[in-house]
Amino acid sequence: MQLLEERIRKDGIVKDGSILKVDSFLNHQMDVTLFVQLGDEFHRLFAGDNVTKILTIEASGIGIACVTAQVFGCPVVFAKKNKTKNIAGDVYTSPVESFTHGTVYDIIVSKDYLKPEDRVLIIDDFLANGAALSGLAKLVQDAGATLVGAGIVIEKAFQPGGELIRSRGIRVESLARVKAMHSDGSIEFC
Ligand code: 5GP
Repeated sequence: MQLLEERIRKDGIVKDGSILKVDSFLNHQMDVTLFVQLGDEFHRLFAGDNVTKILTIEASGIGIACVTAQVFGCPVVFAKKNKTKNIAGDVYTSPVESFTHGTVYDIIVSKDYLKPEDRVLIIDDFLANGAALSGLAKLVQDAGATLVGAGIVIEKAFQPGGELIRSRGIRVESLARVKAMHSDGSIEFC
């Protein structure tokens, strides 16, 4: 998506070779006008898939998921990163290795909010090694729901997640695919 690539080039900051910081419009301050355009694009891509629920992971995915869900006219469920066991009732759970922190945590979703009849679109901000997306896909599978695909804002295509997830037959649509990031701060897209 041209508009998004231009924004990443303008405001994205390359850190340590493989981390892209986009705090000024996506991960800290949120450009909601841009989010509406991203949500419209996700809707165009998945309009025929009868999506009944959007699933994301706290915290960075929630904003873009909410804006997208408004276009689809369906609820958002966000997987919680579990530290305590204080969620009521039964949950689906999956371990996820954090790309940014290098630790493993469990993500959980209440069984009340994912049902076998659901057609789920996963939305997330980044795809890197694919751990977050794999964990979310497992929750959908455990619920017996249908995973229609994943909408990702920024895929770092030089990392293995996209290929890994697509090789499992999951449809992944990324609005910007970063081919390479350089130490001078320049960014190449696929
Ligand atoms: P994965 O599980 O695919 O390795 O990483 C996905 C998650 O890690 C995303 O939800 C995002 O929060 C975080 N992440 C991975 N790479 C980056 C990055 O380059 N920049 C930022 N801001 N977050 C990232």
